Amino acid sequence: MDLNGLTLTAVKKGLLKKDFSSVELVKSCLSQIDKFDSQINSFITVCQETAIKQAELSDEEIKNGNDLPLLGVPIAVKDLFLTKDVRTTAASNVLKDYIPQYDATVVEKLKDAGAVIVGKLNCDAWAHGSSGENSDFGPTKNPWNKEYIPGGSSSGSAAALASGMCIASTGTDTGGSIRLPASFCNVVGLKPTYGKVSRYGIVAMASSLDSIGHFTKTVEDNALFLNVTAGKDILDATTPDIKVPDYTKNIKNGLRGIKIGIPKEYATKKEGIDENILRVFGDSLKQFESLGAKIIEISLPHTEYAIACYYIIQPAEVSSNLARYDGIRYGNTRQNFGKEAKRRIMLGTYTLSSGYYDAYYKKAMKVRTLIKKDFEDAFNKVDAMITPVSPTLPWKLGEKINDPLKMYLSDIFTVTANLAGIPGLSVPAGFINGFPVGIQILGKHFSEELLYRIGYAYEQETKFYEQKPNL
Ligand code: GLN
Repeated sequence: MDLNGLTLTAVKKGLLKKDFSSVELVKSCLSQIDKFDSQINSFITVCQETAIKQAELSDEEIKNGNDLPLLGVPIAVKDLFLTKDVRTTAASNVLKDYIPQYDATVVEKLKDAGAVIVGKLNCDAWAHGSSGENSDFGPTKNPWNKEYIPGGSSSGSAAALASGMCIASTGTDTGGSIRLPASFCNVVGLKPTYGKVSRYGIVAMASSLDSIGHFTKTVEDNALFLNVTAGKDILDATTPDIKVPDYTKNIKNGLRGIKIGIPKEYATKKEGIDENILRVFGDSLKQFESLGAKIIEISLPHTEYAIACYYIIQPAEVSSNLARYDGIRYGNTRQNFGKEAKRRIMLGTYTLSSGYYDAYYKKAMKVRTLIKKDFEDAFNKVDAMITPVSPTLPWKLGEKINDPLKMYLSDIFTVTANLAGIPGLSVPAGFINGFPVGIQILGKHFSEELLYRIGYAYEQETKFYEQKPNL
């Protein structure tokens, strides 16, 4: 049996039926890492010994009839999530030897749910980037074509999952870092509503934009994962006290009567969008219609200001968050920051400084409110929206590394959700010249249940997730 290729849903069934053990499953992920990760570079740290030990304990629990949501399931964690006694680097030399004394809330929840942590995943340092190339531990490669980027910043999270090195993985999304790599690697990625999942214990990038999410092979798997991580955390004041539903409950309800909006600003050639991507996007709309959804054109008029607005607010918050890495209490000195972090610290310090604050930061905050309002107005007319994830296909390693502006433009369709705080789900939607392409489903605050329902109907019809890269 190809254990590495199994979905989380299939793994849970197989473990309970004792078709295979957690030890067999974990070993098979570890051997996949051993065989292929020297080429993909998706892991910074592999937890070989502790993972096997944890899997043995899980098998005991299963034998005793215990059932936990992720019991015995191999999960990999972006190296931005603090893990007690396991090095957490944020993919930066500043933290290259840092060993946390506590777990992030999400990591704690995963462990409580019985998950086996197989390792810590590569990413752009501090989550700055769209390609995975800003890592001080070397770039991650796209498993579909190793000369190309897998998307970032959660590069390792998407690449490891697509390569069968884990059954699901965690990520963070401040401007697209989950949705973009999910789209480039043919996996499902959720950026939840701001505050839906606790940020406690996760290295902060831009605190008002950071959303904590995850990657899975299918939409149903994704819902199962969110069941575990979502909810109020007294250690993160931005997590509201709203009951967490069972996200899988209504997933099979179909699309009849659902109104799906297509923002006209997201589907024109004006934004430099690749014609092939527009074609795949058009095909997906036909699918949604044939599934019973009603497609309605809508407008998000302030979209053209989104990148400018994001790239003022985000570096401002980065400059503040990275001030704590002074090399005194933990970590190495500030000389160890890479080029991109320095660029953002400089930009953010500039836009926050007196004399410039009103012209840049304050104005960007006003534009942010307008972007949020665009979504509120649109969601009075439709239940959800569908958009492309990225205007281009994955690019060649090195192609945009010296042109940060070009790199920033790849976030055009994703940053708006972070500015507005709404959820976004990236789902596989086809292939162009052998490269995966995803679509993005956006919804109102806390509408994850509906996003899963829409994503599930589409996925079951198209089954693009069944295709795997040839490593
Ligand atoms: N690519 C965006 C940036 O560089 C988003 C990164 C993220 O979501 N962490 O800021």
